[in-house]
Amino acid sequence: MLDGARRSRELSALSGSEPIDLLVVGGGITGAGVALDAASRGLRVVLVERRDLASGTSRWSSKLAHGGLRYIVAGQIGVAWESAVERNRLFRHIAPHLVQPMTFVIPAPPAVRTQERLLGRVGMGIADTLRAASRTPAVLPPTRWVGGEQMRTLLPMLQQRREAALHVDGALEDDARLVVAIARTAASYGATILTHCSARDLHATGGTIVDELTGETTDVDARCVVVAAGVWSGGLVADVPLQPSKGAHLLLRAESLDSPSCAFNIIVPGTRNRYVFAVPRPDGTVQVGLTDDAVDAIDDEPEVTLTDEKFLLGTLSSGLTREVTPADVVGRFAGLRPLLRSSDERNPADLSRRHALLDRDGVLVIVGGKLTTYRAMAEDTVDRVVQRLGCGGACATRTLPLVGAGRVADAASLPPRLVRRFGAEAAQVAACGPAEPVAVGLPMLKCEVGWALAGECAVTVDDVERRLRLDLVPAWRAAARGYIEEVVDGSVR
Ligand SMILES: Cc1cc2nc3c(=O)[nH]c(=O)nc-3n(C[C@H](O)[C@H](O)[C@H](O)COP(=O)(O)OP(=O)(O)OC[C@H]3O[C@@H](n4cnc5c(N)ncnc54)[C@H](O)[C@@H]3O)c2cc1C
Repeated sequence: MLDGARRSRELSALSGSEPIDLLVVGGGITGAGVALDAASRGLRVVLVERRDLASGTSRWSSKLAHGGLRYIVAGQIGVAWESAVERNRLFRHIAPHLVQPMTFVIPAPPAVRTQERLLGRVGMGIADTLRAASRTPAVLPPTRWVGGEQMRTLLPMLQQRREAALHVDGALEDDARLVVAIARTAASYGATILTHCSARDLHATGGTIVDELTGETTDVDARCVVVAAGVWSGGLVADVPLQPSKGAHLLLRAESLDSPSCAFNIIVPGTRNRYVFAVPRPDGTVQVGLTDDAVDAIDDEPEVTLTDEKFLLGTLSSGLTREVTPADVVGRFAGLRPLLRSSDERNPADLSRRHALLDRDGVLVIVGGKLTTYRAMAEDTVDRVVQRLGCGGACATRTLPLVGAGRVADAASLPPRLVRRFGAEAAQVAACGPAEPVAVGLPMLKCEVGWALAGECAVTVDDVERRLRLDLVPAWRAAARGYIEEVVDGSVR
């Protein structure tokens, strides 16, 4: 359990301590994954995050643990294979409670040539082959093709009545929740997880840690340093070949799309293979994405512009029987992909989704990649750390379950939201407070607030909002704020 008292204790213990084995900078999916991989190999690890766990890109993803269909289309079969293998591990061993199958209806583009149609089928065939070869369980069945009538039954709001592929992929309950589960699992193996602590002046054997809550600084000696700071890595070490790319999403009320039971893609008018997708979320919204635009400014919270919104709503409306408008939008979010710059090309579609492990004057930097493949990135990184240190065991994370994975005792007696989000820990969460909404009409429960503070490193009101994902919809945040402030101030606990 990670609470504020443990944070203070562990932070104080750092000053003047023996050198640790590994300092990890960044508490997104990559840093949390590295901390878990290293701690589970027996290394002494400290992870520092300048704000909160998953406060960067890792909470603004599309929340898909995907098999890399789009990489197949781009001819990057190696990247797709790695995705398929890691998706399988998430489903089977690592976090079966946090990943669910999601059917995508992918209509054939209008008026494509026979050759292109054949290529589409070949792509799906390769995706199915990778899925089968990675021994993914039967919850992800092979792609099926359906005709116009079945399309009408599945998604009455779709205009198109041509054939479509039903492609099943992995959808995460919540990207930020996955990060928190990884970090807590790392802590269970002895890692120190310090949020609201930023790193600066890094060098091969340590750096300075600033407690962002008090301003105090501590010098940390480490035998190895790994920077996993996503798009912010270039601010910590020189010469990181990144080209950030902004991706924007909208959240629509599910009723505005007749509460679809599956996800669907709509082709961007005038293109042959660019889609906007709509994915139903467990919180009663439908997530619509995605833009992909190279940017130079690295904002802490990138904005969804009017142009982004017009593009997403316009494309969606072009494929529906009625128009969706800004009045249907309840939330907007954007994130910056830490893409590797692979050539001089400024088109992000050509930038690699591969990851790279760099050595900058002895500091290791892990960049690129994606949420689905965080574990493989962590394994590569810690293999190098172990090689450098000459100690530490073999990688254990391929089948290592995260906290919450495993059988949920007495699931039927627990609120379904808790079972979905906390798995085997649901009963413990329920014991942290009333199982009633944090505000009228919201799905988030008061006991989740108590749990976030008692066990999940939440220190501030913002942190608690992030744990419950109130940060996704401004109206949710406003409705729950009073209650959360009271609890954080300690007046209700
Ligand atoms: C719009 C969008 C959609 C995506 N969808 C998917 C998807 O569906 N599936 C998928 O697999 N991938 C997806 N991705 C990719 C995936 O989200 C990212 O690759 C991944 O989240 C990057 O994680 P990270 O840990 O490297 O970076 P981040 O999550 O950004 O973490 C870096 C952390 O470092 C911290 N930090 C920075 N400076 C310091 C410092 N000085 N000291 C301490 N801490 C510091 C930051 O606060 C931050 O929390 C998507 C990306 C985007 C942008």
